[in-house]
Amino acid sequence: MLTPTEADLLIGQHLQCLPIESLPLAQCAGTVLRENIYAERDQPPFDRVAMDGVALDSNTVGAGTRSFRVQGTQAAGDPPLTLAAAGDCIEVMTGAVLPLGCNSVIPVEELTVARGQVALAPGTRVEPWQHVHRRGSDTRQGTLLLSSGLRLRAPEIAIAASAGMARIRVSSQPMLAVISTGNELVEPGQPVLAHQVRRSNAYAIVSALRERGFQRVADDHLQDDPRELRERLKFHLETHDVLVLSGGVSMGRFDLVPKVLEELGVRAIFHKVAQRPGKPLWFGVAPSGAAVFGLPGNPVSTLVCLTRYVLPALCGSLGQNPQPVERVALGAPVTVTPPLTHFLPVRFEQDDWGRTWAAPAPTNGSGDFTALARTGGFVELPPGPNTYARGFVTRVYRWS
Ligand code: AMP
Ligand code: MG
Repeated sequence: MLTPTEADLLIGQHLQCLPIESLPLAQCAGTVLRENIYAERDQPPFDRVAMDGVALDSNTVGAGTRSFRVQGTQAAGDPPLTLAAAGDCIEVMTGAVLPLGCNSVIPVEELTVARGQVALAPGTRVEPWQHVHRRGSDTRQGTLLLSSGLRLRAPEIAIAASAGMARIRVSSQPMLAVISTGNELVEPGQPVLAHQVRRSNAYAIVSALRERGFQRVADDHLQDDPRELRERLKFHLETHDVLVLSGGVSMGRFDLVPKVLEELGVRAIFHKVAQRPGKPLWFGVAPSGAAVFGLPGNPVSTLVCLTRYVLPALCGSLGQNPQPVERVALGAPVTVTPPLTHFLPVRFEQDDWGRTWAAPAPTNGSGDFTALARTGGFVELPPGPNTYARGFVTRVYRWS
């Protein structure tokens, strides 16, 4: 049976990279950049006044002058004025171009103003280039600012805007289908009988995808009926890039998903991973290139497999740079039985030194998803020891 790392590799090898589209900048938050962005100009593009006050020539102060005639006002957005005489100064606003002939800004707090003259407060020192954000001191024109593969958050969007990009090339949103299976499942809001179960997995999967920025997410539910499965899965395979199924991949007589998928030409890449929960995980690829994840239906298994495999794989298919896997120390010892990789839900706790610990929050089996409330995610315990000591550092996955 595959290890989780081997399963990762197989998924990565078979998932196709999604196409690129050009979007207006305002629509790019949360998308993955698929081009490099270079500085349009020096940053700042001019010697920029960094305080409200006056601009003057510091050499004049060095020669003993402490009082200056106010020649004019330089506001942000105006072309630069030129200092007319050494004994003059120009009132300046933050963000303005430093007037020509000036090399220093004195903040308004250090000045007294009377009848068109400003006087420096006693003890005020004036250094060349003080409170001036010098042209090109942040970045030079042509510098690589953002490289392909970055996920665009507020700072990256600001940088792209500063580079003059009205539209940028980003990964296009994949068409995703979340499909739950099972005759026992009843929609929230509908009457539920004693022998039935609420359909919760699809809601969990759709929310996790939306939280990660996926917007094109369809949702369907199928009975454990070969005809219905065949018809609907055929349709979803034709209309979506990725199918995320829950349920129907175990060993039961009504776990029909793998067989139907294979009849539809979806090639099984693997079935089963040496892990608990989530052993029956199934992954395949359709002739169209569409990827199909068959997640086991037990709600804890579904969420663990989704978070451990599907979400990182989808981010990879968007061209996003691989994210370093976070590691955390166990806050209490854990004992496991069989030699499998164990995924253990945890709560994150901070100690007095600001260190984060993963406090084990075991569930009552893989069906007990009520125990997941207040957990932050789960740790991955590699096979080997039966007991992992407090302080054992291992991979951690967050629900969000
Ligand atoms: P399966 O993987 O189809 O054998 O399902 C395993 C268990 O998970 C069964 O108890 C199902 O009732 C439950 N289950 C399957 N799908 C869902 C779902 N969408 N929401 C809640 N429970 C589910
Ligand atoms: Mg089922």
